[in-house]
Amino acid sequence: MSNSNPVRIARAVQQKRRPDGMPVPEDFAEVELVLPPLESGTALVENLWLSVDPYMRECMDGDWELDTPLEGRSIGRVVESLSPELPVGSLVFHRDGWRTHAVVAADEVRVLPRYEGIAPESFLGLLGGTGLTAYVALTRIARLRAGETVFISAAAGGVGTAAGQLARLLGAGRVVGSAGSPAKVRLLTEELGLDAAFDYRAGPSLDAQLAEAAPDGIDVCVDNVGGTHMEAAIGALREFGRIAWCGAIAQYNTGTAPAAPRNLFDLVEKSSRLEGFLVANHRDVQGELEEFLVPHLRAGTVSDRLGVTDGFDRIVDAFLGMLRGENTGKSVVRLTPQG
Ligand code: NAP
Repeated sequence: MSNSNPVRIARAVQQKRRPDGMPVPEDFAEVELVLPPLESGTALVENLWLSVDPYMRECMDGDWELDTPLEGRSIGRVVESLSPELPVGSLVFHRDGWRTHAVVAADEVRVLPRYEGIAPESFLGLLGGTGLTAYVALTRIARLRAGETVFISAAAGGVGTAAGQLARLLGAGRVVGSAGSPAKVRLLTEELGLDAAFDYRAGPSLDAQLAEAAPDGIDVCVDNVGGTHMEAAIGALREFGRIAWCGAIAQYNTGTAPAAPRNLFDLVEKSSRLEGFLVANHRDVQGELEEFLVPHLRAGTVSDRLGVTDGFDRIVDAFLGMLRGENTGKSVVRLTPQG
Protein backbone atom coordinates (compact mmCIF):
# COMPACT_ATOMS: atom_id res chain seq x y z
CA MET A 1 0.00 0.00 0.00
CA SER A 2 1.46 3.40 -0.93
CA ASN A 3 1.86 5.97 1.80
CA SER A 4 0.49 9.33 0.62
CA ASN A 5 2.13 11.14 3.53
CA PRO A 6 5.50 9.48 4.14
CA VAL A 7 7.98 10.49 6.81
CA ARG A 8 10.16 13.22 5.38
CA ILE A 9 13.62 13.93 6.72
CA ALA A 10 15.62 17.13 6.28
CA ARG A 11 19.27 17.75 7.01
CA ALA A 12 19.47 20.63 9.49
CA VAL A 13 22.13 22.50 11.43
CA GLN A 14 21.32 23.45 15.02
CA GLN A 15 23.14 25.35 17.74
CA LYS A 16 24.62 23.08 20.45
CA ARG A 17 26.05 25.57 22.94
CA ARG A 18 26.49 29.29 23.60
CA PRO A 19 29.66 30.85 22.19
CA ASP A 20 32.22 32.78 24.16
CA GLY A 21 33.36 35.53 21.80
CA MET A 22 33.82 34.40 18.21
CA PRO A 23 31.73 31.25 17.58
CA VAL A 24 33.49 28.03 16.51
CA PRO A 25 32.26 25.10 14.39
CA GLU A 26 31.73 22.99 17.54
CA ASP A 27 28.94 25.37 18.59
CA PHE A 28 26.85 23.76 15.83
CA ALA A 29 25.88 20.23 14.83
CA GLU A 30 24.13 18.69 11.87
CA VAL A 31 21.04 16.63 12.70
CA GLU A 32 18.30 14.80 10.84
CA LEU A 33 15.02 16.61 11.24
CA VAL A 34 11.74 14.73 10.92
CA LEU A 35 9.42 17.12 9.13
CA PRO A 36 5.76 17.42 10.10
CA PRO A 37 3.32 15.62 7.80
CA LEU A 38 1.83 17.66 4.98
CA GLU A 39 -1.58 19.02 5.87
CA SER A 40 -4.07 21.03 3.92
CA GLY A 41 -2.64 24.52 3.32
CA THR A 42 0.99 23.42 3.59
CA ALA A 43 3.72 22.45 1.15
CA LEU A 44 7.09 20.75 1.17
CA VAL A 45 9.85 23.10 0.07
CA GLU A 46 13.32 22.12 -1.08
CA ASN A 47 15.64 24.93 -0.05
CA LEU A 48 17.86 26.29 -2.81
CA TRP A 49 19.49 29.28 -1.14
CA LEU A 50 20.09 30.05 2.55
CA SER A 51 21.18 33.33 4.05
CA VAL A 52 23.74 33.73 6.84
CA ASP A 53 23.58 37.08 8.59
CA PRO A 54 25.37 39.06 11.32
CA TYR A 55 22.21 39.27 13.47
CA MET A 56 22.43 35.50 13.89
CA ARG A 57 25.52 36.01 16.04
CA GLU A 58 23.39 37.92 18.52
CA CYS A 59 20.71 35.21 18.37
CA MET A 60 23.36 32.69 19.43
CA ASP A 61 23.65 34.42 22.82
CA GLY A 62 20.07 33.64 23.80
CA ASP A 63 17.32 34.20 21.24
CA TRP A 64 18.04 30.86 19.59
CA GLU A 65 17.20 27.83 21.70
CA LEU A 66 19.82 25.11 21.72
CA ASP A 67 19.16 21.85 19.84
CA THR A 68 16.18 23.39 18.08
CA PRO A 69 15.57 24.20 14.40
CA LEU A 70 17.02 27.62 13.59
CA GLU A 71 15.42 30.40 11.62
CA GLY A 72 16.98 32.19 8.69
CA ARG A 73 16.00 33.68 5.37
CA SER A 74 15.66 31.04 2.67
CA ILE A 75 14.55 30.61 -0.91
CA GLY A 76 13.14 27.27 -1.90
CA ARG A 77 11.10 25.47 -4.52
CA VAL A 78 7.77 23.83 -3.72
CA VAL A 79 8.15 20.10 -4.46
CA GLU A 80 4.88 18.77 -2.96
CA SER A 81 1.82 20.74 -2.08
CA LEU A 82 -1.54 20.55 -0.37
CA SER A 83 -2.09 24.28 -0.87
CA PRO A 84 -3.57 25.88 -4.00
CA GLU A 85 -1.59 29.02 -3.15
CA LEU A 86 1.73 27.12 -3.29
CA PRO A 87 1.76 25.26 -6.59
CA VAL A 88 4.50 22.71 -7.17
CA GLY A 89 7.43 24.43 -8.87
CA SER A 90 6.79 27.86 -7.38
CA LEU A 91 9.67 29.66 -5.70
CA VAL A 92 9.05 30.90 -2.20
CA PHE A 93 10.80 33.06 0.37
CA HIS A 94 10.47 31.81 3.95
CA ARG A 95 12.33 31.78 7.26
CA ASP A 96 12.90 28.06 7.93
CA GLY A 97 16.61 28.33 7.28
CA TRP A 98 19.61 26.17 8.21
CA ARG A 99 17.97 23.05 6.71
CA THR A 100 17.59 21.40 3.34
CA HIS A 101 13.79 21.04 3.34
CA ALA A 102 10.88 22.53 5.25
CA VAL A 103 7.13 22.11 5.48
CA VAL A 104 5.66 25.60 5.23
CA ALA A 105 2.17 27.08 5.46
CA ALA A 106 0.93 29.39 2.73
CA ASP A 107 0.48 32.31 5.14
CA GLU A 108 4.10 32.07 6.35
CA VAL A 109 5.80 32.45 2.98
CA ARG A 110 6.02 34.81 0.07
CA VAL A 111 5.60 33.32 -3.39
CA LEU A 112 8.29 35.17 -5.31
CA PRO A 113 7.38 37.15 -8.39
CA ARG A 114 9.20 36.04 -11.55
CA TYR A 115 11.04 38.99 -12.99
CA GLU A 116 12.43 38.05 -16.36
CA GLY A 117 16.20 38.15 -16.38
CA ILE A 118 16.51 38.35 -12.61
CA ALA A 119 17.81 35.46 -10.54
CA PRO A 120 15.60 34.37 -7.62
CA GLU A 121 18.52 34.56 -5.19
CA SER A 122 18.36 38.31 -5.65
CA PHE A 123 15.57 38.11 -3.07
CA LEU A 124 18.31 37.43 -0.52
CA GLY A 125 20.41 40.24 -1.97
CA LEU A 126 19.44 43.55 -3.53
CA LEU A 127 15.74 42.71 -3.79
CA GLY A 128 15.68 41.16 -0.31
CA GLY A 129 16.16 42.41 3.23
CA THR A 130 19.77 43.35 2.46
CA GLY A 131 18.89 45.73 -0.36
CA LEU A 132 15.86 46.94 1.56
CA THR A 133 18.05 47.82 4.56
CA ALA A 134 20.34 49.92 2.38
CA TYR A 135 17.41 51.56 0.57
CA VAL A 136 15.57 52.40 3.80
CA ALA A 137 18.81 53.71 5.34
CA LEU A 138 19.32 56.14 2.46
CA THR A 139 15.75 57.14 1.60
CA ARG A 140 13.84 56.96 4.91
CA ILE A 141 16.43 57.38 7.66
CA ALA A 142 19.15 59.60 6.15
CA ARG A 143 16.85 61.08 3.50
CA LEU A 144 19.74 61.46 1.09
CA ARG A 145 19.63 64.52 -1.15
CA ALA A 146 21.23 64.91 -4.56
CA GLY A 147 24.88 65.89 -4.47
CA GLU A 148 25.52 64.89 -0.87
CA THR A 149 28.62 63.00 0.30
CA VAL A 150 27.96 59.51 1.70
CA PHE A 151 30.23 57.33 3.84
CA ILE A 152 29.43 53.61 4.14
CA SER A 153 31.15 51.34 6.67
CA ALA A 154 31.61 47.62 5.92
CA ALA A 155 31.07 48.86 2.37
CA ALA A 156 32.11 45.60 0.70
CA GLY A 157 29.54 43.50 2.59
CA GLY A 158 25.92 42.81 1.73
CA VAL A 159 24.26 45.99 2.99
CA GLY A 160 27.43 47.92 2.12
CA THR A 161 27.60 46.95 -1.58
CA ALA A 162 23.88 47.65 -1.87
CA ALA A 163 24.22 51.03 -0.15
CA GLY A 164 27.16 52.11 -2.30
CA GLN A 165 25.36 51.35 -5.55
CA LEU A 166 22.05 52.76 -4.34
CA ALA A 167 23.65 55.98 -3.10
CA ARG A 168 24.99 56.56 -6.60
CA LEU A 169 21.62 55.80 -8.24
CA LEU A 170 19.86 58.10 -5.77
CA GLY A 171 22.05 61.01 -6.79
CA ALA A 172 24.76 61.16 -4.16
CA GLY A 173 27.72 63.37 -4.98
CA ARG A 174 30.75 61.67 -3.48
CA VAL A 175 30.46 58.08 -2.18
CA VAL A 176 33.22 56.65 0.02
CA GLY A 177 33.54 53.46 2.03
CA SER A 178 35.63 51.44 4.45
CA ALA A 179 36.44 47.74 4.20
CA GLY A 180 38.80 45.23 5.75
CA SER A 181 41.28 44.36 2.97
CA PRO A 182 43.05 45.85 -0.08
CA ALA A 183 41.09 43.49 -2.35
CA LYS A 184 37.81 44.81 -0.97
CA VAL A 185 39.01 48.39 -1.42
CA ARG A 186 39.80 47.64 -5.07
CA LEU A 187 36.35 46.09 -5.57
CA LEU A 188 34.75 49.25 -4.20
CA THR A 189 36.67 51.73 -6.33
CA GLU A 190 37.30 49.70 -9.48
CA GLU A 191 34.04 47.76 -9.84
CA LEU A 192 31.37 49.42 -7.74
CA GLY A 193 32.22 52.99 -8.65
CA LEU A 194 32.92 54.44 -5.21
CA ASP A 195 34.97 57.62 -5.38
CA ALA A 196 37.31 56.51 -2.60
CA ALA A 197 37.68 53.64 -0.18
CA PHE A 198 40.14 52.65 2.53
CA ASP A 199 41.28 49.58 4.41
CA TYR A 200 40.44 50.35 8.03
CA ARG A 201 42.80 47.63 9.26
CA ALA A 202 45.82 49.16 7.53
CA GLY A 203 45.75 52.89 7.88
CA PRO A 204 47.01 55.34 10.47
CA SER A 205 43.61 56.05 12.04
CA LEU A 206 40.02 55.87 10.90
CA ASP A 207 39.66 59.63 11.33
CA ALA A 208 42.65 60.32 9.10
CA GLN A 209 41.58 57.78 6.48
CA LEU A 210 38.04 59.14 6.33
CA ALA A 211 39.32 62.72 6.14
CA GLU A 212 41.47 61.75 3.16
CA ALA A 213 38.59 59.96 1.44
CA ALA A 214 36.12 62.79 2.08
CA PRO A 215 38.19 65.96 2.54
CA ASP A 216 35.12 68.22 2.74
CA GLY A 217 33.35 66.02 5.30
CA ILE A 218 30.29 63.82 4.93
CA ASP A 219 26.56 64.51 4.92
CA VAL A 220 25.32 60.96 5.34
CA CYS A 221 26.72 57.80 6.89
CA VAL A 222 25.28 54.31 6.53
CA ASP A 223 26.95 52.67 9.52
CA ASN A 224 27.12 48.89 9.63
CA VAL A 225 29.97 48.68 12.15
CA GLY A 226 29.48 51.05 15.11
CA GLY A 227 32.28 51.75 17.62
CA THR A 228 35.27 53.60 16.22
CA HIS A 229 33.67 53.67 12.76
CA MET A 230 30.76 55.63 14.14
CA GLU A 231 33.10 57.89 16.07
CA ALA A 232 34.97 58.69 12.86
CA ALA A 233 31.69 59.29 11.03
CA ILE A 234 30.46 61.70 13.72
CA GLY A 235 33.79 63.51 13.54
CA ALA A 236 33.51 63.89 9.76
CA LEU A 237 29.84 64.94 9.68
CA ARG A 238 29.01 68.32 8.26
CA GLU A 239 26.30 70.46 9.81
CA PHE A 240 22.84 68.85 9.45
CA GLY A 241 24.43 65.46 8.77
CA ARG A 242 22.59 62.17 9.27
CA ILE A 243 23.79 58.76 10.36
CA ALA A 244 21.55 55.82 9.48
CA TRP A 245 22.68 53.23 12.03
CA CYS A 246 22.15 49.76 10.58
CA GLY A 247 24.34 47.61 12.76
CA ALA A 248 27.31 47.28 15.08
CA ILE A 249 29.24 44.27 13.86
CA ALA A 250 32.37 45.53 15.64
CA GLN A 251 30.78 44.54 18.97
CA TYR A 252 28.79 41.39 18.16
CA ASN A 253 31.67 39.07 19.08
CA THR A 254 33.17 41.03 21.93
CA GLY A 255 30.45 40.61 24.55
CA THR A 256 31.11 44.14 25.83
CA ALA A 257 29.77 47.58 25.01
CA PRO A 258 32.32 49.57 22.99
CA ALA A 259 34.04 52.65 24.43
CA ALA A 260 33.43 54.56 21.19
CA PRO A 261 31.80 56.74 20.07
CA ARG A 262 33.15 59.24 22.58
CA ASN A 263 32.06 62.30 20.58
CA LEU A 264 28.26 61.99 20.68
CA PHE A 265 27.91 65.63 21.76
CA ASP A 266 29.32 66.68 18.38
CA LEU A 267 25.89 65.72 17.04
CA VAL A 268 24.42 68.61 18.98
CA GLU A 269 27.06 71.06 17.84
CA LYS A 270 26.55 69.97 14.24
CA SER A 271 22.74 69.90 14.44
CA SER A 272 23.04 66.33 13.21
CA ARG A 273 20.98 63.20 13.64
CA LEU A 274 21.83 59.59 14.55
CA GLU A 275 18.94 57.20 13.97
CA GLY A 276 18.90 53.45 14.40
CA PHE A 277 16.32 51.37 12.60
CA LEU A 278 15.21 47.82 11.91
CA VAL A 279 14.31 46.91 8.37
CA ALA A 280 11.51 44.74 9.74
CA ASN A 281 9.64 47.96 10.51
CA HIS A 282 9.85 49.10 6.88
CA ARG A 283 8.40 46.14 4.98
CA ASP A 284 5.95 48.54 3.31
CA VAL A 285 8.87 49.85 1.22
CA GLN A 286 9.46 46.44 -0.46
CA GLY A 287 7.24 47.20 -3.49
CA GLU A 288 8.96 50.55 -4.04
CA LEU A 289 12.37 48.86 -3.83
CA GLU A 290 11.44 46.31 -6.49
CA GLU A 291 9.93 48.95 -8.75
CA PHE A 292 13.11 51.01 -8.45
CA LEU A 293 15.71 48.27 -8.70
CA VAL A 294 14.32 45.70 -11.14
CA PRO A 295 14.90 47.98 -14.19
CA HIS A 296 18.41 48.77 -12.94
CA LEU A 297 19.20 45.09 -12.41
CA ARG A 298 17.99 44.30 -15.92
CA ALA A 299 19.97 47.17 -17.40
CA GLY A 300 23.09 46.19 -15.48
CA THR A 301 23.32 49.59 -13.78
CA VAL A 302 23.44 47.71 -10.47
CA SER A 303 24.64 44.22 -9.77
CA ASP A 304 23.90 41.78 -7.02
CA ARG A 305 27.12 41.01 -5.16
CA LEU A 306 26.48 37.64 -3.61
CA GLY A 307 29.25 35.87 -1.74
CA VAL A 308 28.26 32.29 -2.58
CA THR A 309 29.32 29.22 -0.57
CA ASP A 310 28.39 25.93 -2.21
CA GLY A 311 26.89 23.04 -0.28
CA PHE A 312 24.68 22.67 2.77
CA ASP A 313 27.54 21.05 4.67
CA ARG A 314 29.44 24.36 4.46
CA ILE A 315 26.79 26.60 6.01
CA VAL A 316 28.68 26.92 9.31
CA ASP A 317 31.87 27.83 7.40
CA ALA A 318 29.91 30.46 5.48
CA PHE A 319 28.50 31.95 8.68
CA LEU A 320 31.82 32.02 10.54
CA GLY A 321 33.66 33.29 7.46
CA MET A 322 31.20 36.17 7.15
CA LEU A 323 31.80 37.14 10.79
CA ARG A 324 35.56 37.11 10.11
CA GLY A 325 35.13 39.32 7.03
CA GLU A 326 35.92 36.66 4.45
CA ASN A 327 32.84 37.50 2.39
CA THR A 328 32.34 40.15 -0.20
CA GLY A 329 28.73 41.04 -0.87
CA LYS A 330 25.81 39.29 0.75
CA SER A 331 26.75 35.89 2.19
CA VAL A 332 24.54 33.09 0.90
CA VAL A 333 24.75 29.32 0.69
CA ARG A 334 23.74 27.54 -2.54
CA LEU A 335 22.32 24.11 -1.85
CA THR A 336 22.15 22.71 -5.37
CA PRO A 337 24.44 23.34 -8.34
CA GLN A 338 21.49 24.77 -10.28
CA GLY A 339 20.55 27.12 -7.47
P1 NAP B 1 28.21 41.89 5.76
O1 NAP B 1 28.55 43.33 5.79
O2 NAP B 1 28.08 41.23 4.45
O3 NAP B 1 29.22 41.01 6.61
C1 NAP B 1 29.78 41.46 7.74
C2 NAP B 1 31.05 42.28 7.43
O4 NAP B 1 31.36 43.07 8.56
C3 NAP B 1 32.28 41.42 7.20
O5 NAP B 1 32.41 41.03 5.86
C4 NAP B 1 33.42 42.33 7.63
O6 NAP B 1 33.92 43.03 6.51
C5 NAP B 1 32.74 43.34 8.56
N1 NAP B 1 33.25 43.21 9.92
C6 NAP B 1 33.29 42.12 10.70
N2 NAP B 1 33.83 42.41 11.89
C7 NAP B 1 34.15 43.71 11.85
C8 NAP B 1 34.75 44.61 12.76
N3 NAP B 1 35.15 44.21 13.98
N4 NAP B 1 34.94 45.90 12.38
C9 NAP B 1 34.56 46.30 11.17
N5 NAP B 1 33.98 45.50 10.24
C10 NAP B 1 33.78 44.23 10.59
O7 NAP B 1 26.84 41.70 6.57
P2 NAP B 1 25.44 42.38 6.25
O8 NAP B 1 24.42 41.32 6.30
O9 NAP B 1 25.54 43.24 5.06
O10 NAP B 1 25.22 43.29 7.56
C11 NAP B 1 25.98 44.47 7.72
C12 NAP B 1 25.51 45.19 8.98
O11 NAP B 1 24.15 45.59 8.82
C13 NAP B 1 25.56 44.33 10.25
O12 NAP B 1 25.93 45.13 11.34
C14 NAP B 1 24.11 43.88 10.40
O13 NAP B 1 23.80 43.56 11.73
C15 NAP B 1 23.39 45.10 9.90
N6 NAP B 1 22.03 44.87 9.39
C16 NAP B 1 21.03 45.59 9.98
C17 NAP B 1 19.74 45.46 9.54
C18 NAP B 1 18.68 46.30 10.19
O14 NAP B 1 17.49 46.02 10.04
N7 NAP B 1 19.06 47.35 10.91
C19 NAP B 1 19.42 44.58 8.50
C20 NAP B 1 20.48 43.85 7.89
C21 NAP B 1 21.79 44.01 8.37
P3 NAP B 1 35.39 43.74 6.52
O15 NAP B 1 36.32 42.79 5.82
O16 NAP B 1 35.16 44.99 5.78
O17 NAP B 1 35.78 43.94 7.94
